[in-house]
Amino acid sequence: WLDKSRLRLIAGGAASHDSTAYDRAVVSPGIDPATPLVQNFIRRRIDMIGELELAYEACKCPIIGITGTNGKTTTTGLIEAMFQGAGRNPIAGGNLGPAFSAIVRDSAAADVAVIEISSFQLERIRAFRADIAVWLNFAPDHLDRYNSLEEYRAAKLRIFENQTANDHAILHADEEIPGVIANKLTFSARTERGDFCHRDGWIHFRGERVLEMASTQLTGLHNAENLMASMAVGIAWGLTPSECVPGLRTYRPLAHRNETVGQVRGVRFINDSKATNPSSVAMALESQSAPVILIAGGKEKGFEFSSIHPLIRSKVKAAVLIGEMAARMKEEWTPLTACHRAETLAEAVACAQALAVAGDIVLLSPGTSSFDMFKNFGDRGDQFRALITALTQQNQQHTL
Ligand code: ADP
Repeated sequence: WLDKSRLRLIAGGAASHDSTAYDRAVVSPGIDPATPLVQNFIRRRIDMIGELELAYEACKCPIIGITGTNGKTTTTGLIEAMFQGAGRNPIAGGNLGPAFSAIVRDSAAADVAVIEISSFQLERIRAFRADIAVWLNFAPDHLDRYNSLEEYRAAKLRIFENQTANDHAILHADEEIPGVIANKLTFSARTERGDFCHRDGWIHFRGERVLEMASTQLTGLHNAENLMASMAVGIAWGLTPSECVPGLRTYRPLAHRNETVGQVRGVRFINDSKATNPSSVAMALESQSAPVILIAGGKEKGFEFSSIHPLIRSKVKAAVLIGEMAARMKEEWTPLTACHRAETLAEAVACAQALAVAGDIVLLSPGTSSFDMFKNFGDRGDQFRALITALTQQNQQHTL
């Protein structure tokens, strides 16, 4: 295929030392600017954009961009479902795929493009502008790529860089966000200072009840915020609250996000493999009332967990730690809870099961990335689910 299209593929070290005078380089968001490949382009002053900018140039419909440390994929799916439920024709994609550049060819026939955007993608924007930009939240993450949290936050804040006073920004009410000139709508499930808040199991918009959490398929305050941000997008777009509701109610939570994958002798097993930073572990722990055996750990991303120490102390009966970070986490968490180490996920599940009694919860919420032991978070979650399915079957045979 490459031959037929007369494209030349240069891979590995040869790419880092390539001296062709390209007009333009389009850099994938996964490539760290510190790599020799990018440094080579910088040195030779080759015009460089990212995939987001490339797709933006080709996009024929208005854009809704969603960023935040946690909840991007869920909120992107919610907004897509909301527009579909309101009889509109959205296209959706971005960070977690399909890539914006892969769906942009459908933009001429679409009403709106709903795009999940990571900080990595925003690093290389130039003219990219979202008609509606959503800022869900900010918490420590990606310290393996950025030198500081400020650098990570600055990359994310670029989502507002090219917005005008005719655009809209959907913001978390409890955060101070500098430099936003678009029209603001705010939300918070923890305070009542936003346009959207949460009270008595209902989402309220400026004092009116607009959506009952129990009528949706989502639980937890974090999902209340994802729903609020989605409705705020609908309203900024010109939908009424009642037009927003039907689609939001149809949305089903995705796999690997607080997903119950089995119950064995009164112990519930939950797969939250998508929790790749401490703040998402906090969300998972906050939504549990039973004692938790927590399976955590993975790739060393430079985290420290002090923000969730109180939750570990109060909710976690024991922790089983895996991966590159296991030794460091064990040292940090030993004053907080009983800590155990396991070499493999199978060993961690066996250890957690041995520690659990009826009524407990075994929660896989790693708090960091998976690449030290797995292909990605999906692989980690699938392996966990398979182990629990095997455990359930063994238990059934035992009781027959
Ligand atoms: P992202 O695409 O930003 O990684 P996901 O929707 O895939 O977000 O959710 C990732 C993890 O973050 C899950 O473990 C989920 O429980 C948690 N989470 C989802 N929404 C929020 C939110 N609004 N605030 C904090 N944590 C959240």
